[in-house]
Amino acid sequence: MQGMMMQMPLRIIEILRYASEVHPEGEIVSVRTEGDIHRETYDQAYRRSAQLAYGLKGLGIGDGDRVATLAWNGYRHFELYYAISGMGAVCHTINPRLSAEQMLYIISHAGDRVLFVDLTFVPILEALADQLPDGLRLVVMTDRAHMPDSALDLLCYEELLDGQPEQFDWPEMDENSAAGLCYTSGTTGNPKGALYSHRSTVLHAFMVAIAVPRSLHEGARILPVVPMFHVNSWGLPYAAPLVGANLIMPGPKLDGASVFDLMESEKVTASWGVPTVWMGLRAEIESRNATPSELDQLVIGGSAAARDMITFFESKGVDVCHAWGMTEMSPIGTQAQVSRPMKQLPAEEQLDFKCKQGRRVFGVDMKIVDEEGKRLPHDGEAVGELYVRGNAVISGYFNNDEATEAALDKEGWFGTGDVASIDKRGFLTLQDRSKDLIKSGGEWISSIDLENIALGHPKIANCAVIAIAHPKWDERPLLIVVPHDANDPPALAEIHEMMLEHVARWQLPDDMVLTDALPLTATGKVSKLTLRKTFGDHVLP
Ligand code: ADP
Repeated sequence: MQGMMMQMPLRIIEILRYASEVHPEGEIVSVRTEGDIHRETYDQAYRRSAQLAYGLKGLGIGDGDRVATLAWNGYRHFELYYAISGMGAVCHTINPRLSAEQMLYIISHAGDRVLFVDLTFVPILEALADQLPDGLRLVVMTDRAHMPDSALDLLCYEELLDGQPEQFDWPEMDENSAAGLCYTSGTTGNPKGALYSHRSTVLHAFMVAIAVPRSLHEGARILPVVPMFHVNSWGLPYAAPLVGANLIMPGPKLDGASVFDLMESEKVTASWGVPTVWMGLRAEIESRNATPSELDQLVIGGSAAARDMITFFESKGVDVCHAWGMTEMSPIGTQAQVSRPMKQLPAEEQLDFKCKQGRRVFGVDMKIVDEEGKRLPHDGEAVGELYVRGNAVISGYFNNDEATEAALDKEGWFGTGDVASIDKRGFLTLQDRSKDLIKSGGEWISSIDLENIALGHPKIANCAVIAIAHPKWDERPLLIVVPHDANDPPALAEIHEMMLEHVARWQLPDDMVLTDALPLTATGKVSKLTLRKTFGDHVLP
């Protein structure tokens, strides 16, 4: 028997319409690329999103078209999130830290029609000018007074909005329609696109709001340091207006001093980001001998939060919530807050749990499996490949059958490439990573890509790239080389030069070591595990 309830499609624009009616004074405070601070309410953001939707229509954007952004966290980027998806198009956020080659690949793979760009990133486009697809329209996210002089044909964001009506007839599309697109690094080759739907995005906003209420509540002042080009700022631009929390958008300045100052001046209550950022904030707190006065919670994810970091912030009265997720999961999968009964445990034991990646949020199922795909017990001992499923988990990669097939198991669960245990309480602990990737400051570097490029060097017989733990960046790449002739090894600078044609400068290996041969596994593959044991303590320059 069917239930007898109405069906309303879950649409992203409904979040902002709701906030504009119920939390009209909720505000978005933005540090602008123009240099000043800008304030607008959710009500104003909703009306400007309508104006922007008319502007997009004027550019010929329609159902399912991809509209890209290359931008920091700010109110115009927020308006783009809502206007693009609201009118039925797809908001494709591009990571400006990618190499030129990767950026061009995803612009063309996504089939972007328009690219919205912050002032800061106009030079990136100028450098790529000859290679951008024909017909791609470029809009600079600023007003007429700040438009840059450029040989490119640039449109002005504020002019698109000028004089447009403040009400838009948002279409009632199917809730499974595509709404957002975000590429993530592949282990090898080109980035792969996670194509979010209206339904997955709205459900994910609910999941985030329920999972981390200490950050997300009416009147809270949240600083998303995690970029909007990085899995939608972990869902904050959706979850914050949903609950009536304010957003404090940091723009381009993410160093410790700027983050501290913004936290203080805007009375920030919660902030989310990767460990590298919190290292900077920690140094600032230590040097000023002061903590941002209203700061109540940090959510740390993207890489493991170190015990020492959690202890430091908690000693300053700031609660730390460790979280784990992936681009393919929209991204939140787990959070490691201790529940009320667990607060009876001794402090050190509570800390043990906070250091784990945490328990699943509602709507995410997890399993760990052995090499044959057999499920392993959640006993805190068994370690296996972590698979997930849920309403905000991808069912495949955008236009990429090969990657899709590799990602899903027979039961349709998604393989995370993380190796983990799950304890009896349901706390996930990441033990290793089966994907050959290095995570530096929250961004990916493909070991295999670096290896393939280095192998092109005439003096290199074989090579491998492994991650070395780094105090600031979490991990940095080390290149291990077997030279053809030990007396005539290649120079690291030459290898860097070759790599720079394909990867970004920050992705280059920090150092190179020479060895006679690479250790192999039983199946004849290079044993990264053995290499990590042998060279893991290598001191980088
Ligand atoms: P995000 O960085 O937003 O979590 P990505 O898709 O770029 O999303 O990266 C996801 C991967 O990052 C995970 O599969 C895992 O390897 C790593 N990761 C994310 N959160 C954590 C964490 N808390 N601890 C350890 N590794 C993490």
